Amino acid sequence: METDFTTSRLTGWGRTSPSSARTAEVSRGDVSEFIKDSNRRGVLMRGLGRSYGDAAQNAGGVVLTLKGSAHEAVLDVDAGTVTAGAGVSLHDLLKVIVPRGFFVPVTPGTRFVTVGGAVASDIHGKNHHVEGSFGNHVRRLTLMLADGTIHEVGPDQNPSLFWATVGGMGLTGVILDVTFSLIPIETSLCTVNTIRCRNIDVLIEEMSHGDDDHRYSVAWADLLATGSRLGRSVLWRGDHTKLAELSSKDAAQALRYEPRHLASVPPIVPSFGFVNKLSSSLFNELWFRKEPRRKEGGHKSIPSYFHPLDAIGSWNRLYGAGGFLQYQFALPFGREDELRQIIEKVAVSKTASPLVVLKRFGASNPAPLSFPMPGWTLTVDIPARAEGLGSLLHIIDEMVMQSGGRHYLAKDAHTTPLAIRQGYPRLDEWIQIQRSVDPDRRWQSDLARRLELI
Ligand SMILES: Cc1cc2nc3c(=O)[nH]c(=O)nc-3n(C[C@H](O)[C@H](O)[C@H](O)COP(=O)(O)OP(=O)(O)OC[C@H]3O[C@@H](n4cnc5c(N)ncnc54)[C@H](O)[C@@H]3O)c2cc1C
Repeated sequence: METDFTTSRLTGWGRTSPSSARTAEVSRGDVSEFIKDSNRRGVLMRGLGRSYGDAAQNAGGVVLTLKGSAHEAVLDVDAGTVTAGAGVSLHDLLKVIVPRGFFVPVTPGTRFVTVGGAVASDIHGKNHHVEGSFGNHVRRLTLMLADGTIHEVGPDQNPSLFWATVGGMGLTGVILDVTFSLIPIETSLCTVNTIRCRNIDVLIEEMSHGDDDHRYSVAWADLLATGSRLGRSVLWRGDHTKLAELSSKDAAQALRYEPRHLASVPPIVPSFGFVNKLSSSLFNELWFRKEPRRKEGGHKSIPSYFHPLDAIGSWNRLYGAGGFLQYQFALPFGREDELRQIIEKVAVSKTASPLVVLKRFGASNPAPLSFPMPGWTLTVDIPARAEGLGSLLHIIDEMVMQSGGRHYLAKDAHTTPLAIRQGYPRLDEWIQIQRSVDPDRRWQSDLARRLELI
């Protein structure tokens, strides 16, 4: 068979560090042919490119995307599971499963991610404090190894290779399809409580004592506010709405699911973008004020509660040609003082955009490279052109390392091999498993080379 490649310039969602690779969209049956046709720069699978940094890039090598159709996914209603191709997006899958009374076990802040990308990054969502990350819900998956052989792995079947693949950033093999459990739902709405918190201390207190009563919890924080308003925030906690909570009129369409696309940012915006100190502080002030001080029990649709940013296509272009970094780290419980100090450093630097999220994590899973750990995770979007960004992040990296924290590989675009080695103490165990299934270093990525993962 003739393998047909195109040369493409790829970036992550943050649009920093582009690199070129030979790319092709392949069907499950053709993957092994395309793998053989690689040079010493190796091969990498790519989903929808929603990781922010260079995780789904492979400069000078091959990058493959897997075709996938949600209509071919097999829903087992009795078992509450679905088996889907790794190239299927959560966007397409939700359109099939929500009307049938199911929701994905974990969703990130966008539904435009693939099932393969969800496993490879072991993504977490607003329910991590009670239900863990995506890998916790995977029953089995099919993996093609570097030699072209196909293996079934799962928590009870070759568990070490399974857990090395969960969070393994595509470096153990090609995930072909995945069986995972779903959440049964009675309606496609969420019942959401809103609380405005005047600063980070009030927020930490509130989350520490109330999060466990809700399946979902996430906070937005204003990282431009300082002094007594440091880390002022809005906390939204929610649960899937029960049928009995709806009027009979609404109950008739309880599982209606119609995500809306409002607009797209055009391909050309001014090179300096629209996100700056002035626009961000104006946005933060309006955003904070528009929320009620405390509101119990409002209803939100799945798209507006879980994926509000998806309503605007290509919103990452708003940062202009230089793109932006999403800096995400986790700190263990007991390190709240350090969390506050980091928030203060970012607030004083006046570099943060309005996209800032604080989440309280629950228990880790057995995957050596899984990001979530019991504690706090802060996510901050910062324009890449922000003055002094390099030295600011260098200082914060040190604080994260000294506090026993770690950085999220799916978001990273800047940190060092040392920070990853310290943050992931089981990295050598993972490398050993990775090498045992890929002795010739077939799987490669810009991220893996930059952070010395392989
Ligand atoms: C707006 C937004 C919000 C987000 N919110 C969250 C969040 O709340 N929580 C969270 O955890 N993440 C979040 N993310 C990050 C996103 O969930 C992850 O980066 C996810 O992995 C992206 O999936 P993808 O299909 O786009 O994969 P890509 O970004 O294309 O690839 C990610 C990794 O998966 C590997 N991969 C992809 N497919 C396969 C396959 N078939 N076999 C083997 N490896 C494969 C790639 O090699 C790469 O290492 C968010 C991203 C955006 C843009």
